[in-house]
Amino acid sequence: MRIRRAVVEAIVGQARAETPRECCGLLIGSGELIEAHVAVANTRTGTVAFAVDPAGHFQAIRKARASSLAVVGAYHSHPRSSAIPSETDVREANDPDLLHLIVSLVEPQPVVRGYRIRDGAVHEIPLSVW
Ligand SMILES: [Zn+2]
Repeated sequence: MRIRRAVVEAIVGQARAETPRECCGLLIGSGELIEAHVAVANTRTGTVAFAVDPAGHFQAIRKARASSLAVVGAYHSHPRSSAIPSETDVREANDPDLLHLIVSLVEPQPVVRGYRIRDGAVHEIPLSVW
C-alpha cells in the first residue's frame, strides 16, 4: 500500500508525544492509498495495549465519508518493542480487510510496518511512502 509521507510523520510525532503509552488512530484512504489519519484516544490505561475510543472511530468514519474515502486501516505505537504485532494485537484483530500499521520507537529511527491479520495469521504488507 502507499501512504503519504505527511501521514507517517504525523503518526510518528503522535507516538513520540504519547510515549510511554501506546497511541492509536485510524487511517483514511481508498484502495491502495492512505491519504490521511485521525488520531483517536486510547481508552486503555496501560502502556502495552490500546483500544480505539468508539466516538473517535465514528468521527474518523464521518471524516472519511466527507471526502468520499473510507477507513482502510488502524495504527498504534510500540514505544518499547519492535513493529511486529503482539499476541494481543493478533487476537484482537477482527477485520481482515483492515491494514494494521505499527510504529516502533525502539530503533534510533522510527520504524513503520503494515500488516493484515486474518484468522490469527499475520501477513506483512509492503508500504511505500509517497
Ligand atoms: Zn501492538
